Amino acid sequence: QDRLITGLARPEDQFDRAIRPTSLEDYIGQPIVREQMEIFIHAAKSRQEALDHTLIFGPPGLGKTTLANIIAREMGGNMKSTSGPVLERAGDLAALLTNLEAGDVLFIDEIHRLSPVIEEILYPAMEDYQLDIMIGEGPAARSIKLDLPPFTLVAATTRAGLLTSPLRDRFGIVQRLEFYSIADLTTIVTRSANLLNVPIHPDGAVEIARRARGTPRIVNRLLRRVRDYAEVKGDGVVTSDIAARALDMLAVDKQGLDTLDRRYLQMLLERFDGGPAGVESLAASLAEDSGTLEDVVEPYLIQQGFVMRTARGRIATPQAYLQFGLEVPVRNG
Ligand code: ADP
Repeated sequence: QDRLITGLARPEDQFDRAIRPTSLEDYIGQPIVREQMEIFIHAAKSRQEALDHTLIFGPPGLGKTTLANIIAREMGGNMKSTSGPVLERAGDLAALLTNLEAGDVLFIDEIHRLSPVIEEILYPAMEDYQLDIMIGEGPAARSIKLDLPPFTLVAATTRAGLLTSPLRDRFGIVQRLEFYSIADLTTIVTRSANLLNVPIHPDGAVEIARRARGTPRIVNRLLRRVRDYAEVKGDGVVTSDIAARALDMLAVDKQGLDTLDRRYLQMLLERFDGGPAGVESLAASLAEDSGTLEDVVEPYLIQQGFVMRTARGRIATPQAYLQFGLEVPVRNG
């Protein structure tokens, strides 16, 4: 199934490099995050210290990696990237840490998937810039201690709740990214169109922004598809009419709902009578992973007011019934 509207990265997204913002100034939206980071970076720089370790959380495609890159750049350091599932052995992390220079950023994506062994090594590295590992095995094994340069760990996760508390406590800065407003997404898609030399009308930009599920990665992806359509079916200019026709053809929902969003809502409404339903039961019925539902699907549906998370499970709101043309049931209590 083609999941055009998913916040998760797809291979084609590598072309995003040309449009990825490289300074805080170009980082659109997220005003609170931007203002705070501006102050923290400025203060650390004037004290000539490394920035405090920073944890960024939010659903896929909202700009966590982009923000990590910007932090490295604004601090005047390099960024080395890795991810939780990739870091399997202590030696992998040691190699990365010992290659850092003062002021560098080590970016670990999906930090909630770090193994406990690696996490143990990270604690003294974060706290005292100390690397403390065992090398060799058996009687020849010995522990070595190394001083590390002052660096900043920037970590990203889709769910902060999955981090162990000792790890979470070691981040001086914690930022949560929110879904973007249509106005911010309009600015992003207009900026991207300019950088890619795609002529776009303001209302064409709004049409694309409306259907992008609050996510910059998706708005840029939709722009590329609409550009193709405009070149073949029109004169290359992205008008609102061209954008609407292209997105209808691609079966992109006017509300920015993904096929999985729609299946989720339909399942909750029809099979579970609107809930409450446990996330595990929903996942089993949809043949999806419950983590995917929690990380990727539910945050947007909750933010848009279609679903509520309660102690007894997920509940469909009246808005969800209306979305599917169903009658809103009258509930007691
Ligand atoms: P994440 O790491 O959260 O999955 P990324 O940082 O890879 O998301 O962002 C995906 C794409 O969205 C980037 O390549 C970039 O072009 C765009 N993007 C993200 N955040 C912003 C922003 N605040 N302003 C403009 N473009 C953004």
